[in-house]
Amino acid sequence: QHRRDLAQALLPAVTGDGHAVEVTANVASQAEAEQALALGAEGVGLLRSEFLYLQRSSAPSHDEQVRAYSGMARALGPARTLVVRTLDVGGDKPLSYLPMDSEANPFLGIRGIRLCLARPELLRGQLRAILGSAGLARLHIMLPMVSDLCELRLARQMLHEEAAQIGLATPPKLGIMVEVPSAALMADLFASEVDFFSIGTNDLTQYTLAMDRDHPQLARHADSCHPAVLRLIDRTVQAAHAHGKPVAVCGALASEVPAVPLLLGLGVDELSVSVPLIPAIKAAVRAVDSGQCRALARRVLGLESAGQVREALLAYPPAQP
Ligand code: PEP
Ligand code: MG
Repeated sequence: QHRRDLAQALLPAVTGDGHAVEVTANVASQAEAEQALALGAEGVGLLRSEFLYLQRSSAPSHDEQVRAYSGMARALGPARTLVVRTLDVGGDKPLSYLPMDSEANPFLGIRGIRLCLARPELLRGQLRAILGSAGLARLHIMLPMVSDLCELRLARQMLHEEAAQIGLATPPKLGIMVEVPSAALMADLFASEVDFFSIGTNDLTQYTLAMDRDHPQLARHADSCHPAVLRLIDRTVQAAHAHGKPVAVCGALASEVPAVPLLLGLGVDELSVSVPLIPAIKAAVRAVDSGQCRALARRVLGLESAGQVREALLAYPPAQP
């Protein structure tokens, strides 16, 4: 039985009507990446690179960073994708060796790409280290917290300069997290300048509903199934596909089994999920029909509340007539 489950987990995730969905993993270490592969992950859709920078008193050296990224890339191998998200700290996640002013609203402050562009040497150093593993895996780079086109352009210029420095003719694919409402609303403009989108439903929900994701009373109401969040996901997918660009979801909504038919129905191409959920999400993909998923998605986009959406999800699959 165990062997059969394992063999099943390693098969691709294809819906009943033959639509393939990539199922990848969210990881924060090489050990976790290896575990994800053993459970059937097709790649790493989100490497939270913060693990290299947090909980230490000095910045990681170039060699240390190169070792970490290339170890991870080697574990995946040249046929699998490794999406490295650049540093997403600041505000609520301070770095002891990088003095930052304290902020009244850290989630609305110098965070993610904003911090990296304010301290360009930090981002440059990270990009240089990530580029050290080009060729070892299908390397992609992803920027967190992008809210404005100029952030993408500045980071891309830096990436191209660093790639040119080491004589790398084709830099890795560059994408952005869609986790700020402005990025989702402007997705048509971003889509022509990125290689891919990955939707961070945790932050997208927090910023769309104006509810702190860690707030003791509000966090449970900050539901990514809120129709406002789903409309932003829908809009993002439509804009990306109009430009032939793929969309992943890497926020926690992708790791919810009942949300699988909804996300597939919205047209999402890849689900990047927490490691232990990989087999269950792949099984959920195999259990659905993409036509029924699309019908479900159209229906819930018109509902009023997250509660109503959750009820509609429980009613999937629809009863046979
Ligand atoms: C998100 O915001 O959904 C996300 C995946 O990023 P993080 O949880 O690391 O902020
Ligand atoms: Mg986020």
